[in-house]
Amino acid sequence: MQNKAAPPDPAHDELAKADHAHLWHPFTPMSLWLEQEPLVIARAEGQELIDENGRRYLDGVSSLWCNVHGHNRPEINEAITRQLKHVAHTTLLGLTHRPAIELAKRLAHISPPKLTRVFYSDAGATAVEAALKMALQYWQMAGLKGKTRFGSLADAYHGDTLGAVGVGYSHLFHHFFEAVLPDTLRLTPPHLLRWRNGMTHTEALERAITDADRIITGESKHLAAIIVEPLMQGAAGMWPHPPAYLRALRDITTRENVLLICDEVATGFGRTGTMFASQQAGISPDLMCLAKGITGGYLPLAATLTTDPIYEAFLGMPQDGKTFFHGHTYTGNPLACVAALTSLDLFESDQTLKHLDSIIPSLQQKLEAKIAPLNHVADVRQQGLMVGIELAADTKNRKAYPAHDRMGAKVGIEARNRGVIVRPLGDVVVLMPPLSIQENELIELVSVTRDAILATTEAR
Ligand SMILES: *Cc1c(COP(=O)(O)O)cnc(C)c1O
Repeated sequence: MQNKAAPPDPAHDELAKADHAHLWHPFTPMSLWLEQEPLVIARAEGQELIDENGRRYLDGVSSLWCNVHGHNRPEINEAITRQLKHVAHTTLLGLTHRPAIELAKRLAHISPPKLTRVFYSDAGATAVEAALKMALQYWQMAGLKGKTRFGSLADAYHGDTLGAVGVGYSHLFHHFFEAVLPDTLRLTPPHLLRWRNGMTHTEALERAITDADRIITGESKHLAAIIVEPLMQGAAGMWPHPPAYLRALRDITTRENVLLICDEVATGFGRTGTMFASQQAGISPDLMCLAKGITGGYLPLAATLTTDPIYEAFLGMPQDGKTFFHGHTYTGNPLACVAALTSLDLFESDQTLKHLDSIIPSLQQKLEAKIAPLNHVADVRQQGLMVGIELAADTKNRKAYPAHDRMGAKVGIEARNRGVIVRPLGDVVVLMPPLSIQENELIELVSVTRDAILATTEAR
């Protein structure tokens, strides 16, 4: 993709000024933002974003991990337009509607076994909040009043609302809020043992499972649930764990009467090569959180799925006091639900999972050939179409760059100048293209990433 210099556009200048004057961007050091010309996206097509000046960029992170079938898909556009002529929004509090009903049925059908009930909300964080509150209320109603704690993996990320922050942890993101966060039990996933203690894959896995068993068993009287991002911890910097670890967590939690919540917000909808990551471990959680890819990346929608036994524990007359008093105004929005239904249709008509069967190994091959050998690439981690490329000043001793060098961010800028949008997590360059990415685009994604890493790391 060649980015020809376009003539300056006065309207664009106005937009940029107004952005700088009035917008506060998420997860963004605003002082740095104000130093740069903002990239204003005007349109998108397929796997490409198009800015106000008509320049095209490959969307290397699926518009923050949510786009599935490409942008501006006529099928989804038409479904939303059709629904718009019926009704844009109507509530699920006391009423219901066809798109929400049909989607719930489809989600229950494609999910791991036993997940039969769908509770809607509108973001990954809210799907997690609902799961946490369901777990808490479930045990309170069961008379096990001591079960009020949660367990999660070290460096987990589950969203930015307070409950979700309580089970996630990133010092950088969360340290200001620590005083009000619950005391969550932390399990150490295999990869940390491997890096910190120099263990082999097998040793680290065995040790992680033994530790989890001991910790969960010791605390089971107080534990309501363990929450986990199955197979790949995304925001932690793309850290994978083997399916065997997830299976062990399922076995231990079942045995110890602790609920298991799979946060599939990032991994769901084909991202790891199967519809849901937990399916690769052959497990079924008690609660599953979905968002990001659920609408194909079109509109905000989320769902918390659960089993009959959990759902049935909430049944009873109002005076029994078992109602789940929780919900959001735009929960199960019909436009979002039809986008989600059409996205599921596209999984079938595009044969998305079959496409992944060839595109995932192709990406792996390219990463091995072009990225892994680079002098300042310490590690390449891939799980389906989720990739983390870890940069290091000294790869042999795994010595990081000083944070203020902002190497990851610089790679992002170099890539953008070459027509590809990537957004790093610290010094981990993330590649997370739409599942619909084509072979030629994959070649471009990897070669631009390579050039951007070289331009950044060899220029010092
Ligand atoms: C992105 C993410 C969330 C939060 O989703 P939002 O829609 O941004 O609230 C939660 N869990 C995981 C695993 C995520 O990757």
